[in-house]
Amino acid sequence: MIRIKYAFASILFLFAAVSFAQEQEGNEKEPGHYNQSKFKQLYEEFATPNTYRSASGAPGPDYYQQQADYKMDIRLDDKNAKIYGEETITYTNNSPDALEYLWVQLDQNVRTKDSKALLKNGSGVPIADQPKTFVGKYMTAPFDGGFVIEHVKDDSGKALPHTINFTMMRVDLPAPLKSGEKFSFNVKWNYNIPDHTVNRARSGYEYFAEDGNRAYVIAQFFPRMAVYNDVEGWQNHQFWGNGEFALPFGDYEVNITVPADHILDGTGVLQNRKEVYTKEMLRRYEQAKKSYDKPVMIVTQAEAEAAEKGFSDKTKTWKLKAENVRDFGFATSRKFIWDMQAVKMGNRDVMAVSMYPKEGNPLWEEYSTKAVAHTLRSYSSHTFDYPYPKAISVHAKNQGMEYPMICWNYGRPNADGTYSDRTKYGMISVIIHEVGHNFFPMIVNSDERQWGWMDEGLDTFMQYIAEQEFGELYPEAIAPNDKYPSRRGDPAKIVPYMSGDQSTIAPIMSNPENVFQLGPNAYGKPATALNILRETVMGRELFDHAFKTYAQRWKFKHPTPEDFFRTMEDASAVDLDWYWRGWFYTTDYVDMGVKNIKKYYVSDRPNKKMQAYLSERGMTEADLRPLVYLEEMDETSDETELKNGLPSETSKTLKEYMMDNMTAAERAAVKEPKYFYEITYNSPGGLPMPLIVEYTYADGTVENITYPPEIWRKNSSEVMIVVSSASELTGVEIDPKMETADIDTTNNSWPKKEQESDFDKMKEGIKGE
Ligand SMILES: [Zn+2]
Repeated sequence: MIRIKYAFASILFLFAAVSFAQEQEGNEKEPGHYNQSKFKQLYEEFATPNTYRSASGAPGPDYYQQQADYKMDIRLDDKNAKIYGEETITYTNNSPDALEYLWVQLDQNVRTKDSKALLKNGSGVPIADQPKTFVGKYMTAPFDGGFVIEHVKDDSGKALPHTINFTMMRVDLPAPLKSGEKFSFNVKWNYNIPDHTVNRARSGYEYFAEDGNRAYVIAQFFPRMAVYNDVEGWQNHQFWGNGEFALPFGDYEVNITVPADHILDGTGVLQNRKEVYTKEMLRRYEQAKKSYDKPVMIVTQAEAEAAEKGFSDKTKTWKLKAENVRDFGFATSRKFIWDMQAVKMGNRDVMAVSMYPKEGNPLWEEYSTKAVAHTLRSYSSHTFDYPYPKAISVHAKNQGMEYPMICWNYGRPNADGTYSDRTKYGMISVIIHEVGHNFFPMIVNSDERQWGWMDEGLDTFMQYIAEQEFGELYPEAIAPNDKYPSRRGDPAKIVPYMSGDQSTIAPIMSNPENVFQLGPNAYGKPATALNILRETVMGRELFDHAFKTYAQRWKFKHPTPEDFFRTMEDASAVDLDWYWRGWFYTTDYVDMGVKNIKKYYVSDRPNKKMQAYLSERGMTEADLRPLVYLEEMDETSDETELKNGLPSETSKTLKEYMMDNMTAAERAAVKEPKYFYEITYNSPGGLPMPLIVEYTYADGTVENITYPPEIWRKNSSEVMIVVSSASELTGVEIDPKMETADIDTTNNSWPKKEQESDFDKMKEGIKGE
């Protein structure tokens, strides 16, 4: 019922005598308004495509990646909380380059006594400290952690020269490793395992004073090959604590020796199940492999509680083998309860597994494996079928950390077994998140050291979808008639961050060490950006296809941000450079508003603008051909002009044109708007977004129009739109469903919700005449 035209000027080309420079009053053309930069393509920001990485965002014909295979023997000294290890790394150089040295990551070295990581942050005196923090800061000697490297040898047993630089070790090769060649070497080490509950380590142990046991969640426990690739050469940026890991794929054979009464699980397939399981556990395991609807207990709580009292001096060796993984983690304790179920994945079965001490119950037996199984199904449907044989969720206090096939998760009930909704949702959410990390970055193997958002942002976005689906699938798990209370993902959730002090906000495209608030920067904002892209900018069909294309192109490979950005456009035919620029490369925020509304009526008489134009040039009306005018209504407008508002009645020029150029049928088909409005929308935030507007009319009709983001392409701060309608416009609201993360909604409505608008006052004036 309404027709929209772009503002101004376009109707003025009709006459021959003059040509208009578009300088009319009202079309304020100040310097800088013609601002194409927000829609400028990202050629300057993106690396030039090449034969390794195609312009389409797919791996190029010469794409390569290195391989690092590991054979390891690990021994846990439970009494002293210490690990001893020896590994043989076989490194395959698939790059075209000859390598003179190899870089190995020694991440445990972030916890040496003299670690520079302890000194990396400047700070003033805070308002206050938690006593625990205070003791840690001023009264405690640093933990004596870090790798003790006992030897580095080649496969003939000859010592290899090596240099340790903080968390990196350079191993000098006897001769350059040529393209296509392999090199094997052996490293022996040990280190003190940290208590992860006191120093926020990503792995370590928790000590349970009541029963004297430790529960270990162990990772970064072995010297690991750094990534070498076409983008960075060696990724040997140090591990300072925030930027996580960059690791090549490889095959692992790991033998782990622990006390005989421990229960252990980790990355890979157990090779000697009969040696380490009891007969009863084997029987239950066979059952679990056929249980698709609920978990089967492999170790019950009663059995775990009995084991807590044992403290065996004997040992057992658990042998695990994993193919095509980028890392390895394991968890071990005599406190662990263990349950498993099967999940159908195409024509394969995957085991969903949980391990938890009794302190996790009753929450963990109820929800952990359920959440694992759901995550595998949900993520697979949006990416690719989960390719590994199992996924394990381990309960560890305050932990949320991921490794291939295994992750540590928080969510502990009170000592009496009660728990809050917050604890429950936090636990389900962290399990979805950490199990989800199997997809990003364990399989779609992005460089976490450089780009936190590529795994955290994509994973948090997928987590949001999986959580919402969880709420629909298990309504009994959430509040009645509610949806799953996702902490991140909804546009409104990112508003406080994006409206914050600009001096403490970094763009998403920043190294995780250099941002102020890693949570909103690498998790919340990219997740929201992708959610808005899916729901509001691209639509689910285009987005889901493109996102899946990215996941499938880059599974078991190493993508860069550009590979993601390019693929999303390549697979959807949606130009998104403006979106990546705004959301990922800047700290612009969304704030769109209704700045001004003017009302017009149709007339044959030259309007005030035309009169001004003529008088400036010494012309008169006689110099013009008959034209149709929209004249602004103000206090001097004639009420009768309004009453005779129909253009076919009031504009003779228009009527004649229609009679001469249109058939009767065509004339009958045209709409005859009576009301015209020139609406000025502005965007103080500067981040272009689709302009979603709800128009309400006096006859009760409501019309929703979404102007494409491109409406901001010539002027990113202000745009005018002419709305014509048969009924009087009574309300305008931008983004009525809060889809765009608009940080200030007080300017989103006309008339303004609280105060009377200028137009209302003007209307009052007219009525008074
Ligand atoms: Zn994460």
